[in-house]
This record gives sequence, C-alpha cells and structure tokens, in this order.
Amino acid sequence: MVDFSNAEDRKRFRHTASHIMAQAVKRLWPETKLAIGPAIDEGFYYDFDRDEAFSEADLKKIEDEMKKIVKENLPLEYYELPREEARKFMEEKGEIYKVQLIDDLPDEATISFYKQGDFTDLCKGPHVETTGEIKAFKLTSIAGAYWRGDSNNKMLQRIYGTAFPDKGQLKEYLDRLEEAKKRDHNKLGRELEYFTTVDYIGQGLPIILPKGSKTIQVMQRWIEDLEASRGCELTMTPYFAKRDLYKISGHWDHYRDGMFVMGDKADQDDETKECYALRPMTCPFQYQVFLNRQRSYRDLPMRLTETSKLFRNEDSGEMHGLIRVRQFTISEGHYILRPDQLEAEFKECLDLAKYVLDTVGLLEDCTFRFSQWDPANPKNKYEGTKEQWEKAQETMGKILDDLGVEYSIGIDEAAFYGPKLDIQYKNVFGKEDTLVTIQIDMLLAQKYGMEYVDADGTKKNPYIIHRTSLGCYERTLAYLIEKYAGWLPVWMAYEQARILPISDSHIDYAYEVKDKLTKMGFRVEVDDRSEKIGKKIREANKDKIQYMLVVGDQEAADKTVAVRAHFEGDMGTMPVDDFAAKLKEIVDNKVRHDV
Ligand SMILES: [Zn+2]
Ligand SMILES: [Zn+2]
Repeated sequence: MVDFSNAEDRKRFRHTASHIMAQAVKRLWPETKLAIGPAIDEGFYYDFDRDEAFSEADLKKIEDEMKKIVKENLPLEYYELPREEARKFMEEKGEIYKVQLIDDLPDEATISFYKQGDFTDLCKGPHVETTGEIKAFKLTSIAGAYWRGDSNNKMLQRIYGTAFPDKGQLKEYLDRLEEAKKRDHNKLGRELEYFTTVDYIGQGLPIILPKGSKTIQVMQRWIEDLEASRGCELTMTPYFAKRDLYKISGHWDHYRDGMFVMGDKADQDDETKECYALRPMTCPFQYQVFLNRQRSYRDLPMRLTETSKLFRNEDSGEMHGLIRVRQFTISEGHYILRPDQLEAEFKECLDLAKYVLDTVGLLEDCTFRFSQWDPANPKNKYEGTKEQWEKAQETMGKILDDLGVEYSIGIDEAAFYGPKLDIQYKNVFGKEDTLVTIQIDMLLAQKYGMEYVDADGTKKNPYIIHRTSLGCYERTLAYLIEKYAGWLPVWMAYEQARILPISDSHIDYAYEVKDKLTKMGFRVEVDDRSEKIGKKIREANKDKIQYMLVVGDQEAADKTVAVRAHFEGDMGTMPVDDFAAKLKEIVDNKVRHDV
C-alpha cells in the first residue's frame, strides 16, 4: 500500500501509472517508440515517438486499455541485465531511445528493468507491487516535447496524466484543476485582453493592453494618494545608472546575474570604460534624495516613495504571464529613520500593506514569512557581520511578535542587506510568490555615507526600511484576475457599465447616457452594433461587465436606464442620475464580490 501523503510513495505510485500508460500505448500501436516516462509533481507523463499524432479520442482508447491492465493486476518484476544483453534486448524491440539511454549510463551503472505482463521497461524504479493498485487515473493532455529537451532533436508526443489511490481524490483534483484553468490569468487575462506577449519583444515583457493599463493606473493613483496621506514624498529617479552606483550598493557583486547590464560584456569589468545597467531596485537612487543636503534628527523619518519600473533578468523558464516578468512596476518606498523610530515606522508600513491588500481583497489569502539569512552560507551572498545580522533579526522578530503577526520562517530568503517580512500569495495553481515586502536595513546607510546630525550634535547613520505597499502591479493584476475570475471590483474595472440600445433607433439616447456618465467620471461604453439585445447581453457577460444599462423607447422617453447587474441581479428601471449615484457609492466604497 502507498501512503499518499508521502512524496516518495506518490512518485512510486504515479511512475507505475506511467508504465501502465506506456504498456497500453504499445498494445494499441506496437510501432510506437518509447522515450521517458517519469512521475512529476501532480502526476506523470510519458514521451512517445509515433508518426501519427495522438488525438483526444486516442486518450480515451488508452485509458480503456489501461483499465484492462489494472484489472489484470499484473505484478511488477524487477531484474537486471549486463550492458550488452540490455542493449541487444532494446535494439531487437526497435526501442532506439532506450538504446541511447543505456549507452549514456556510466560504466559502473546497474542496468535494470521492470516487467509487467507483456511489457518491459528500462527502469530504476521503484514501483508499487502490482498494476491493480492504480485504481483511479486520468490522462489530462498532450504536448510536444523534444527528445532530451533539445530543439535540435526530434519532437516527440508527451501524454500527461495523473493518478490517485481512489476515485474521490481524483475527482477532487480534476474539479480543482478545471476551476484553476478557468481562472488562470495567463489564459483569462489574455482572453479578456488585459495583456498579451509578443515573441519578438521577449519573454517576461508583457504588453499591457488598455484594459490592464486602466486597472493598473487606477490602483497606482489610489496608492500614490494613499501614500501621500500617510506622509510619503514622491520621487522620480532614473531607470539606469553607471556601474559605480551598483558597486557601492553591492548589487554589482551580489546580484549582477540578475541585472540587465548594457553594452559589451567584455567592457563590463574594464574600469576605463563607462558601463550602465538597468536598475533592479530603486534604493540607491532614492538615497540621493536624502544625501542632497545635510539632515538633522528632526528631518526623520523621511518617507520616500516612487512608482518604480524595475528590471530583473529572471530565468526564461520562470516566466509566467504577469506573475513572473522581467520588467515590472512597484510602489517602492524607503523610510529613512532614527533607530528609536524603527518599531513605529515598521508598524506603519505593515499597516499600510495590510490596508491595501485588504481593500483589493487579497489579504485573507496571504501568509507572512519572516525571511532570514543563512548563517551557514553567509560569505558570498550577504553583506555585514554575524553580529549585525543577529541584531537586525532579533529586532525584527521582536517587532513582529509585538504586533502579533503570525509568520513562518524562511531561511536564506533575506535580502543581501537585511531580514524581510514577505507577504506571500499563491496563484490558482498553488504556486507561491511574494506580493509585498517590508525589510529592515541597518547596513546600507553607512555604505552610502548617509548621516544625520543627532540631538547631541554627533553624526549618525540612519536605519532604512525598504517596503512596498501594493508590491508589483503586474503581479497584483494577475492575482486579481484569478481571484475574481475576471469580475474585478467596479472601482478598478476598465469598463464599469455598458449601455445596450435595444435597436438602432435607441443609439442616440445611449450615447447621451454615455456622455452624461463619462462627464461624471465613470468609464462607460455603448454596444452600438446592430445585434439582437440577447446577444449584446451575452457578450457583456462574457466580457465580465458588471452593470448593463438597457435602453429602449420607454427609457429614451423617460430619460432612464434599465439596470441589469451581475451580482445584484435586475435592479429595475431608474433615472440616469439615480444609477450614477448608486455607481458612485459602489466605486467610493470599493465594493467587491467574492466569485
Ligand atoms: Zn520506469
Ligand atoms: Zn530598497
């Protein structure tokens, strides 16, 4: 029996399912050649070389054959062969990929096989005892995959599947996957025209379309005003700088691989040549604001904020829609303060972040991570001494405990200059990323020569809090699309209401309504196509427009609109001003509906 909560057991189980799938394929299409078939996180796959493409109908056939193999309850038998015999065995079967795999094994390797009835595979194992254990499985998709992942090799067909010990667990998984696919911002966000990507512009460089741009702009204005109301001052600093700056900051030594450095690679380390790099963060740029003149203890805290574009050279394999990108926009702040102000300012930053996340509706699904350095590996990655780190982490731990924050600890997740509180969020597929971060930095001020004159007339280095208040706008938009399945709260929606004239004769009135609402500051469109009203309603629904204003003869005569709301239902016919008042209340209160 397998313990499905154990990762190794799960792997054993699902790897067996992949053998059963390969056996079924070989029974149905014996000419098919087998490549590799491992267990993966959520299931398994097998790569096949077959001239004809597998169809959806084929998947059904394979599943039916797999059911037979499970019913046959075949034992999985392990045996070994000397290299030459193993090679000959696979050669005679025409399994050219298996022959290559054998040839690649080092001389001293044991060459082993698993046999189940009429099927034998080159395999290290381990497996479950018999095919009868694989009670519940499903083939989920077909994709192309190059042999050995190399685009110079032949493209094979990869069939994905998953398997569970019982049908209930399988159904639960498939239901969850179905829902996740519907919400996946990388699909839905493209369908709803929030963003797109273009191969020749580059991976991780999304084009934010008008719809996404409007939502981001609305959030950005809101955040900037909110920050100003909490005593922040806005800065605008360059997107790139000379190498010299990053040398002081430590990014040149600690983070160069993650940066886009301009110009010839050969010149990067040539001190006689000027070398520029796009910024991966705003810190050292904003410090120049503090450094602009002499500061006294009375000037602190100095709360600087900027809506920053940042550039990070992430691995291309890591790219995902708007969640993992190479250019992004964050509400990045640096609070420069006296040591005695640290706790209060940290609290302020956390309060701001929580308020923002709560307002957009993401807070309830966030978790908190206290990201610390790794004392075992302090040398190349982290600045500062052991004593400095221990002090910073102790201070931060005390603040978090005082504030009653429930957190997990992330070892080796700190910034290179200090510990962080990371507010984490999971996308629909369960992949976790950081949404907002608040960091304590007792090191960098000294490196930049940042000093203030204290009350006693002596010069001191300030502490710095690095923080975001909403985090990355692109990533937040992705999470919002997924959370609301496209039905974004009206205050941030691109199109807050759509006017639907019943026939062409009502178009003039529709535009009159639009004009009025637009002048009041609402974002409203008219569907003026000569289509049936039913179709217009269906499409507005598909576009996730929360308010539809239907106008016909009666409405035109009375200067009213008939309001159909996605969440509230039929709201009846009302004067345009009444609708505007309702909409204003919804927008002002940032009303949201769980989907
Ligand atoms: Zn195997
Ligand atoms: Zn910073």
